[in-house]
Amino acid sequence: MLDYRRSCECCGRELAAGDHRVYICSFECTWCASCVATFPGGGCPNCGGSLQLRPARAFSRRMHAPTVQPHSDTRRLVRSA
Ligand SMILES: [Zn+2]
Ligand SMILES: [Zn+2]
Repeated sequence: MLDYRRSCECCGRELAAGDHRVYICSFECTWCASCVATFPGGGCPNCGGSLQLRPARAFSRRMHAPTVQPHSDTRRLVRSA
């Protein structure tokens, strides 16, 4: 599971959970889009890894702290079968 950081490691700007313009590198360094634009070659200045857009969907899933209850679904299935 990726460690989603809440702020840019370059400028310290707080990154919103739904921000689609957040970049992470292979080693999970986290950058805002405006800082990435200033990186020479577009690579991670920490480790040289390639940067990719952070999957915002996975982030929001974790934010909502999903309390999955498969038991209720299972019971329903058993009952109807
Ligand atoms: Zn930044
Ligand atoms: Zn990095």
